[in-house]
Formats: sequence, C-alpha cells, structure tokens
Amino acid sequence: MRQSLVECQCCGKLMVPRTSYGRALGWWDGARPISNHCPFCLSDNWDGSRPTIFQRLMRLLAGLAGISVCLLLGEVLLTLQAEVGIYHQYPWLTLSGWALAVLAGYRVAKWVDDY
Ligand SMILES: [Zn+2]
Repeated sequence: MRQSLVECQCCGKLMVPRTSYGRALGWWDGARPISNHCPFCLSDNWDGSRPTIFQRLMRLLAGLAGISVCLLLGEVLLTLQAEVGIYHQYPWLTLSGWALAVLAGYRVAKWVDDY
C-alpha cells in the first residue's frame, strides 16, 4: 500500500493535511474547502510553498537592483553616444542600447533573486 503521509515543512512531522472549511462569499454560501493545514502545528504553509519574509525582501531587492542597473547602463550608453557625437542620429543604436540595458537589468535581477 502506498504511504500517503507527507512531511510538514514547519514542524517536520509526518502527517496527512487536514482540510479547512469555510464560506467563500458569506452565510448564504455553503461551506466548502478553502485550505488545508498540518494537524500538529496548525500551519497552512506545511508544504513550504509560501515565500518567507526574507525571500520576499530579496525579491524586492532583486527588482530594485535590476531597475537600477537598467537605468544606469542606459544612461551610460546614451552619454557615450552624446560624447561621440552620434546622439539621436542612429535610432537603431539608441534602441539596441536600451534593449541591452533592459537585458542586463533582467540578468542582474535574476542573479540577485537566485542568490
Ligand atoms: Zn506541522
């Protein structure tokens, strides 16, 4: 027989998740399953799928770092074009510079998020 127990990511005990019932809309709506929880520690994050506050802060930091790198690199590339004297002469160069800046910002955000 297949074992149907799973390990709770909060308390580490083997358990079968219990179903929580509730009314989704109000008293006129019948009770239906709304979530499930560990019977030992009552945590509804027993599978560890919800990000912690540290993971959320790192994701926010990654987004800010990506936006900063994108704006900084875009500004540097535009400044270089202005220094050379070809600013607004080649639209494809400006567009590809911004595309490069967006790509670099995305890569930095992904790197910080995976860190
Ligand atoms: Zn638990």
